Amino acid sequence: MHSSKKSVINAILILLILAGVAAAYFYYQKFTAKSGKDDLNYKQTFKPEDFRPLPLSPQSIKNGRTLTVPILMYHHVGDLPKNCDSTRADLTVPTTNFEAEVKWLKDNGYTSISLENIYLTGQGKFGLPKKPVVFTFDDGYKDVFINAVPILKKYGFTGSFGIITKNPGTTQGTNVYASWNDIKNAQNLGNEIVSHTQNHFDGKDPKFSAGYIFKNLFGSVTDLNSRLGITTNILIYPYGHYTVTYLEQAKKAGFVMGITVHEGKLLDLDNLMEIPRVRVHGAETLDEFEKTITE
Ligand SMILES: [Zn+2]
Repeated sequence: MHSSKKSVINAILILLILAGVAAAYFYYQKFTAKSGKDDLNYKQTFKPEDFRPLPLSPQSIKNGRTLTVPILMYHHVGDLPKNCDSTRADLTVPTTNFEAEVKWLKDNGYTSISLENIYLTGQGKFGLPKKPVVFTFDDGYKDVFINAVPILKKYGFTGSFGIITKNPGTTQGTNVYASWNDIKNAQNLGNEIVSHTQNHFDGKDPKFSAGYIFKNLFGSVTDLNSRLGITTNILIYPYGHYTVTYLEQAKKAGFVMGITVHEGKLLDLDNLMEIPRVRVHGAETLDEFEKTITE
């Protein structure tokens, strides 16, 4: 009698402890999602379907609202860290390769334009050069500002940099982020700075509410404004991930143009929230690079 009473009490105690642990875990998740502390050490997790080409709207084709602009997607430019994984290697273009790619574009008559120039083209307010190209760099890594920015300058080009606005000046694992000073210097050279959210949260993850998405995207605009004195309305989606709700919130936060990782260089001027890009791989040869531009 006595011992069975004891075991019931023990069972209740164990249940209470488990409930406590579950509640603590739940609140931790909620807290980190709210404060945006969950994705600082994010891992690039692109999936093949993220890159599938988007169909162009027949209406846009009929109305002549399409144009061909290779928007190149880079992440790191420089040396690989020791013991890095294959994803990191694919995202890292060696500086010598980068210079060869830039030189090839220069020698072949390309002119760099900004993402904003594409928006203005859609508005009839910008005349595209004969062979336009856009250089985009996601995440704001320091190696890009050290290695790529001077090379772009040397060849008379500018690039577009998607900044995770809570990350400048920090190091997360093997990723070293440029400081606001690095970013400001690049901006002063005529480079374009756009939003890549405040913390690189995954736009497809259902744990992020519409309210969270709005707050984060709007916050990234405010951060860029207070740090750099700009008001960007262009967003590069982390992982290329977004949903219908995400797009609604992005527009509500003032964004008029969204840059994806969908593969392609044929742009739909009437679908500016889903702009495709051309990915440049770490191990790509110059021949392969030329083909992605010209074919
Ligand atoms: Zn990113």
